[in-house]
Amino acid sequence: MTLKNTLCPVLFIGHGTPMNAIEDNRFSREWGTLAKSIPKPKAVLCISAHWETQDTFVTAMPAPRTIHDFGGFPDELYQVSYRAPGSKWLAQETKNCISSVSVGFDLEWGLDHGCWSVLKNMYPKADVPIVELSMDFTQPAQFHYNLGKELLPLREMGVLIIGSGNMVHNLRKVSVRGEDFNEPSGYDWAIEANDLFKKLIVENDHEKLIDYPLLGEPAQMAIPTPDHYLPMLYALSLQKPGETVSFFNDEAVAGSLTMTSFTIGI
Ligand code: ZN
Repeated sequence: MTLKNTLCPVLFIGHGTPMNAIEDNRFSREWGTLAKSIPKPKAVLCISAHWETQDTFVTAMPAPRTIHDFGGFPDELYQVSYRAPGSKWLAQETKNCISSVSVGFDLEWGLDHGCWSVLKNMYPKADVPIVELSMDFTQPAQFHYNLGKELLPLREMGVLIIGSGNMVHNLRKVSVRGEDFNEPSGYDWAIEANDLFKKLIVENDHEKLIDYPLLGEPAQMAIPTPDHYLPMLYALSLQKPGETVSFFNDEAVAGSLTMTSFTIGI
């Protein structure tokens, strides 16, 4: 077995609307198919767009709660409780990996929808422990990319690292809400930004992706705030030389979001 095959893959998932948690649609089905196509991990470390903090934390509780961090959706969605266990082991290993900053143990957060809406479809039995790593909102993109790199040893321990956000994510510009949200639809600038990000990913030009404010107007429209974009940088930071990136769910929805996702190392 080559070294490559001993490494857990890394994922970036475009999570889109929270309704993907309970809808059987082309995106959620793909998440389930993906999970079946890779070895079951020992645990998952998720970097979600929806957990930003001052300083850096990992969830360390034994039974993280399901956080319904959204408004205006059907009751059915608020009834969901995804009871995957936490992992003190992974919380400790994550803290051990990161030497650039002091990582705190968090006992209050849980699993936000950027995490559980995806994981519920990947592992419906909730039998894979999950830890979340927060993003320090006071820090620039380069900090997040560098911090991501420090997590590399976890890939050798059977930990599946998932960045969950959306490459293109501008909620102020969405063209449709409600049931039609997932209909294929993308503004020209959204498609242009999505194509540019993919091109730079394929070319391994991570520096340009880190310096995203310099990527022009479509990228600025795509990233009005960095929360949904930064999880992608965490995923890319963990790519080893020669590892392949494969895209899936590469679609624009609601005009101003793209669901474009990728695997590394499969
Ligand atoms: Zn989101």
